[in-house]
Amino acid sequence: MRYYSTNLNASLVDFPTALLKGLADDRGLYMPETIPQFTPDEMKAMKRMDYPTLAYTVLHKFMADDIPAEDLRRQVDNAYDYAVPLEPVKRRMYVMRLDQGPTASFKDFAARMMGRLMQYYLAREQRKLLILTATSGDTGSAIANAFYGLDNIQALVLFPENEVTARQRKQMTTLGKNVRVVAIDGKFDDCQALVKRAFADPALKHLDLSSANSINIGRLLPQSVYYFWAYSQLAEYPEPAVFSVPSGNFGDLMGGLIAREMGLPVSRYVVATNENDEFPNYLDTGEYEIIIPSRNCISSAMNVGHPSNVARLIALYGGIMDEAGNIHQEADMKRMRQELWSISINDAQTRQTIINAWIDDKLLLEPHGAVGWAGLLAYLEAYPEDACRLCVSLETAHPAKFPEEIQKLLGFDPSLPPSLMGLEDKPEYVQQMETDYDAFVRLLKEHYA
Ligand SMILES: *Cc1c(COP(=O)(O)O)cnc(C)c1O
Repeated sequence: MRYYSTNLNASLVDFPTALLKGLADDRGLYMPETIPQFTPDEMKAMKRMDYPTLAYTVLHKFMADDIPAEDLRRQVDNAYDYAVPLEPVKRRMYVMRLDQGPTASFKDFAARMMGRLMQYYLAREQRKLLILTATSGDTGSAIANAFYGLDNIQALVLFPENEVTARQRKQMTTLGKNVRVVAIDGKFDDCQALVKRAFADPALKHLDLSSANSINIGRLLPQSVYYFWAYSQLAEYPEPAVFSVPSGNFGDLMGGLIAREMGLPVSRYVVATNENDEFPNYLDTGEYEIIIPSRNCISSAMNVGHPSNVARLIALYGGIMDEAGNIHQEADMKRMRQELWSISINDAQTRQTIINAWIDDKLLLEPHGAVGWAGLLAYLEAYPEDACRLCVSLETAHPAKFPEEIQKLLGFDPSLPPSLMGLEDKPEYVQQMETDYDAFVRLLKEHYA
């Protein structure tokens, strides 16, 4: 199994190379050359699997040549030691709670697997890496937590100072050790731009930089697994299901699209964005216009005006998009519109959804999950014939990560999962930096040269 770059100007590489490089030399994103398929019998056999076994089964399809089966199995057992609840809401509508990991967001699924695989290959090659990551909140904590204490890896996390909650911030800044955290006086897009520029900078080549953002293929593949999980637990193969995915950088959605290419029966993916509506507009008009600066919404991890993974999505539909968002070859829009349905949910609708879900269905949502749920409800209004289908909306963070918003809307403080307890009292290790590339280079040279 080899991986190509979405810019089509870099050589094909194997999985460990794609994983450890992150971004291809032509600044494109790695995609598997072919997507492996499950047979109907393999699909049916998933019904009896627990989550780690299922994760092993899906990832083994991609990595059979690159890691011995028993080593992969061990990494997977170690990464997925928490529950993945499917909460019934009404009719055949469910919310999949991806918030039970150590940092209480769905990013744990990807970060924990990626960290372990990187460590595995680095140890084998006796190499070290510096992981650079830009975060709008949950990535930073998931990455910091997943990499904390690993021998061959240093992690440097940039986050936009004013776009994360106090609790999100504390989840990143209270670790220390091999995890350095820097607060930027800008937006998520500024953080991402600094990181992208550093990767492309020949003067920094010697630092052996790698990325942990959702541009890394090693983060993407583990995000296919939970779609199979929901389906195997709730559906009868081969009935088609509907998934609703609250989307920011589109890594979560890409996991789902890869799952479908592997044989998961999905009639529609609902792609729910916040007010950063470049994708719903694109699906509507065929014109892709990035949003600069990105719009600030309460679903802050989705404040992305030009999602990196859209280049992968376009590649999956036969088109070519460069990293600036220019389309060099049209994608198959007809098929895309059959398979995806997209909607932008504004903050007022998000808040109303949190209130209604709680009052009507005793369903507790935080802002990201509420965007997904609102998207699903809007979809079923537009396509009432799909109301009889299995519908799964993804809840990507724990409501306790947004206590101010929940308190304001519902009048109570959601109880903390054990992973979030005691953060207030821990000391912070964090430094400040302005949005300035030269300052960033100085910081890198000072600590890692
Ligand atoms: C990152 C994140 C998202 C968006 O996921 P993408 O893969 O970037 O589309 C949604 N919700 C939460 C809570 C997140 O942390």
